[in-house]
Amino acid sequence: MMQADAAVRGIGMTSARTRDRLIKRLIEQGIRSTDVLEQIRNVPRHLFMDEALASRAYEDTALPIGMSQTISQPYVVARMSEALLDNMEGDRLLEIGTGCGYQTAVLAPLVKEIYSVERIPELLRKARKRLRSLDIYNVRFRLDDGWQGWPKYGPYHGILVAAAAPEIPEKLLQQLAPGGVLIIPVGPSGQQELAMIRSKNGRFKQVSLGCVSFVPLVKGG
Ligand code: SAH
Repeated sequence: MMQADAAVRGIGMTSARTRDRLIKRLIEQGIRSTDVLEQIRNVPRHLFMDEALASRAYEDTALPIGMSQTISQPYVVARMSEALLDNMEGDRLLEIGTGCGYQTAVLAPLVKEIYSVERIPELLRKARKRLRSLDIYNVRFRLDDGWQGWPKYGPYHGILVAAAAPEIPEKLLQQLAPGGVLIIPVGPSGQQELAMIRSKNGRFKQVSLGCVSFVPLVKGG
C-alpha cells in the first residue's frame, strides 16, 4: 500500500499532462464513454509493468510484462470496455486472461463483480497484489485454463477474453447468460478480429469490432 501510494505520486511519467495526452488520443480514435476515459485517466498503468518500461506507460501501445505476454494497448482496453459496457445488462463479468490486471482494474469500478481467470501463476499473483494495493476488492481470481470458463459463478452477463482464439470456445458460450455479451479476438496471428457475440432468444448473433492483435489463448491451460 505504502509503496503503491508513493509510486502513484511519482512525477514525470505519471504527470497529468502525459495522461491527458493519452485521453485526447483515445477520444480522437473514437472512444466516447466518459466512464471508460475517466478510468483510463485514473488507473496508474505504470504500476502494471516493470519499472524499466514505466516511462512508456502512457503511450498508446502494448508493452511486454514478462512470460512472453503483454499489457494490452490502452486503445484496445478502451474499445473492449466500451463495447462491453454499452451492451452488458447485469452484474457479473468473466474475464479470461488477467495478465497484469490492467484491464481488470479499469473495469472494476464499472462492473459489480468480476471473475478473472489466468493460466500463468506468476502473473496472477502479481495482478492480485496490485489490485489489492489499489483498493479493488470486487474481483475474484482463478488459476486455470480459460477455455473452460469458470462455471461455478456463471452464467455471466458479460465475458471478455484478452487473448486470441482460433475459434470461439464452446464452454464460454455455454456460460453466457440470456442477453449476455461475449467479446473475444478470433483468428490466427496477423488476421485477428475482435468479435462481439450476443445471446438472444437462445441464439447467438455475432458482429465484428475490427482488426486487432493479441497473444494466443493457449489450449489446455
Ligand atoms: N488483460 C491484460 C492483457 C492480457 S494478455 C491487460 O490488461 O493488459 C493475455 C493473457 O491471457 C496472458 O496473461 C496469458 O497468460 C493469458 N492466457 C493465454 N491463454 C490462456 C488460457 N488458456 N487461459 C487463461 N489465460 C490465458
